Amino acid sequence: MGTKGREIVGMAVDDVLKMLNKAFADEWLAYYQYWMGAKVAKGPMKDAVIAELVQHATEELTHADMVANRVIQLGGTPVTTPKAWYDWTNCGYDAPEDPYVKALLDQNIKGEQCAIGVYQDMIQATRDGDPVTANMALTILEQEVEHEEDLQSLLEDLELMLARK
Ligand code: FE
Ligand code: FE
Ligand code: MG
Repeated sequence: MGTKGREIVGMAVDDVLKMLNKAFADEWLAYYQYWMGAKVAKGPMKDAVIAELVQHATEELTHADMVANRVIQLGGTPVTTPKAWYDWTNCGYDAPEDPYVKALLDQNIKGEQCAIGVYQDMIQATRDGDPVTANMALTILEQEVEHEEDLQSLLEDLELMLARK
């Protein structure tokens, strides 16, 4: 914990830590959902879809790292067990039970849209009281916005291809 860094937070640190730990649980579940989706994917444009899912999995893990580092800077403890991810998550976990590429794209688009809402809310809540957290949330938000568009554009290509057959 950095003492001065924590002292300058102009809002309840416990509230910030709660938001961060909820997002931390989301990031691990998003990582696993992408990682598993990439393993099981089947159907048209499978290679392109898998490449994007693998890339996003890696990026979700970097988000988990950024959020955990901020929790530690503020003197908190990141959620320590996978079991607790379910207690903390905002966005939940959609198991890739249907391996068809469109089903995977749909469920991960839904996840990205939830993540966009989470980081938008985090920015609104911390912008004045904890600009360091707000800045981190903005960096992650930019990538979640990119993720949504990546997946929607794959879905569009897939639908165009299927429509012309
Ligand atoms: Fe993320
Ligand atoms: Fe994402
Ligand atoms: Mg991407």
